[in-house]
Amino acid sequence: MANCKNCSAPVPADTIVCTYCGTRNDTDLSGIHEFTEVVPDHARTCPRCDVDMKTIDLKIGGTFLIERCEECMGMFFDSGELEALIKATVKNVHHVNHNKLKELYALKRHDAFGITYIKCPVCDTVMNRVNFGQRSGVIIDRCPDHGLWLDGGELRHLLEWVKAGGKMYNEKREEMKRKMEAREDIKVRRATTINSGGGFDTYGATLRSSDPDIFTVVGRVVKWLVG
Ligand SMILES: [Zn+2]
Ligand SMILES: [Zn+2]
Ligand SMILES: [Zn+2]
Repeated sequence: MANCKNCSAPVPADTIVCTYCGTRNDTDLSGIHEFTEVVPDHARTCPRCDVDMKTIDLKIGGTFLIERCEECMGMFFDSGELEALIKATVKNVHHVNHNKLKELYALKRHDAFGITYIKCPVCDTVMNRVNFGQRSGVIIDRCPDHGLWLDGGELRHLLEWVKAGGKMYNEKREEMKRKMEAREDIKVRRATTINSGGGFDTYGATLRSSDPDIFTVVGRVVKWLVG
C-alpha cells in the first residue's frame, strides 16, 4: 500500500490521485530506488497528452530505458520490457494470496480516461486493449509490433498483483486448460474414428478429427467467458 506524499493517507491501487487531498502521486516508481533521466535522440509523444515524453533509465540489469509522460505519468514499454521489469522486481512468490487477488480485481481501475483507444507512440496505429494476465484488473494498451502502454498507477497495480501470486496462479490455470483440451482432443479423435468408420468424408478427404466441431468451439468460448 502506497501513501500520499502530501498527506500520508493510503492511496488505493486503482488510482494515483489521493482521495483526501487530491494530490497526484507517483506511485509506480516509488518501489524502484534508482533511476535517471536520459536525453533521447528524438522524443516520443504521449498518446494521452500529446506532449514529449521523458526517457528514463531504470537501470535494471544494465541500461533499461522506458518512456514516461510527466503530465499523466503513463509509461511506454518496448516489447518484452514489462516482463523483464516484473522478473527483476518481484521475486520469491511461492503462494497465492486469494484474498489480495480478489481485492485487486475488485479494484478494477475505473479508467480515468474512459474506454478510449490510443495510438502507439512509435507507429501511430491504434493499440489493442488487453486485460493483462486475464484477471489482474488492469487493461493495458498494446501495439503488437512495438510494446505496451500503462497509465499512471497501473504498473504498481500490476506489481501488487504479481506479488500476490496472480501471475503464478494464471499460468497454472492456463497450463491446466491446455492439458484438459489435449485430453478432449484425444476423446474426440477416438469417437470420430469409431463413428466415421475410417475417417473419410464424402469428398474422399481424410477428416481432421483435431479440428473442433461447432459445439466444442461454443463450449470453449462459454468456458472462457465463465472463466
Ligand atoms: Zn493526500
Ligand atoms: Zn501523458
Ligand atoms: Zn506500434
